[in-house]
Amino acid sequence: TIQPVYNFNAGPSALPSAVLEKAQQELLNFRGTGMSVMELSHRSAAYEEVHNNAISRLKTLFSIPDNYEVLFLQGGASLQFSMIPMNFLQKGQKAAYVNTGVWAEKAFAEAKLFGDPYEAASSKESNHRFIPNLHDLKINQDDEYVHITSNNTIYGTQWKDFPNTGEVPLIADMSSDIMSRPVDVSKFALIYAGAQKNLGPSGVTVVIIRKDMIEKANPNLPTMLKYSTHSKNNSLFNTPPTFGIYMLGEVLGWIEEKGGLESLAKQNEEKAHLIYDAIDESNGFYIGHAKPESRSLMNITFRLADQDLEKKFLEEAKEAGFVGVNGYRTVGGCRASTYNSVPVEACMALRDFMIQFQKNN
Ligand code: PMP
Repeated sequence: TIQPVYNFNAGPSALPSAVLEKAQQELLNFRGTGMSVMELSHRSAAYEEVHNNAISRLKTLFSIPDNYEVLFLQGGASLQFSMIPMNFLQKGQKAAYVNTGVWAEKAFAEAKLFGDPYEAASSKESNHRFIPNLHDLKINQDDEYVHITSNNTIYGTQWKDFPNTGEVPLIADMSSDIMSRPVDVSKFALIYAGAQKNLGPSGVTVVIIRKDMIEKANPNLPTMLKYSTHSKNNSLFNTPPTFGIYMLGEVLGWIEEKGGLESLAKQNEEKAHLIYDAIDESNGFYIGHAKPESRSLMNITFRLADQDLEKKFLEEAKEAGFVGVNGYRTVGGCRASTYNSVPVEACMALRDFMIQFQKNN
């Protein structure tokens, strides 16, 4: 018998086993086509149905208003770091970036290549243990946009409320918490996320963009780097990552079956609290990194008070079948990523393991 594996990877990460099984069943003969979905032409009716189905499921589940478009792009969230300023920021123009961690800094660095972004707030002094207070954001009404990172994968912090930026477009990197909870999409001008944490395999980047943003973007860009190109062509200007989009559509179908985002959010909260409770009830044996009011429900970051014990904890966790519990490569510590597809049983098992490890040590 194979020992069960509990996948807490930060991304790529766990996928629902029901979706993997369905993909396996459909692999050799996709819905009567006699071939796999990977082998279909992206111009075929069979693929087009997969593609449009994924888009419409996303729109319905995430309650996306009609004046927005859903695009499936490539290049990861990292290419969005560049595409956003390329399209919306020019020399002499300002954009506000909130520095809540490594990914936010990378987005900021790309914007500097195109315009004059500035830091609207930062949590750097505290090693990004908190989300800045909404009232402390320095935002000017003539900014081209405000950029935030809704969930900070490395530090385990998450925005609970979003700033009201008035007429200034609000842009969010939602890579590590997209569709883990209901969000008022109408507050945002653009939302982007790599699919590989909450929505599917790597290779697809979801962009949700308000139509007026597409119209006002810089027209003097390479074809592939303009949102308008992908919008005009329903994300079929060139060959899209067809298998990834198929998987994403199936994961969305699974979310539908689970009762949509309200019920998923409730589950995600329960899952995360299993582990946060183990931290909070450990009398300082485990130390949470994020301030309680900024805690992420997706990435739970903690340390052990004793460094040697931390090493032992990670080794024993690995032996017991817990995968991906080590912190980000440049930060260290421990991190459990409890994305949508991570089952509650895995979180219970990790909680039990943490309690037992503390007792033994
Ligand atoms: N933003 C956030 C919040 C992330 O967690 C990551 C990846 N871990 C990225 C951006 C980069 O995404 P990608 O690898 O898809 O470019």
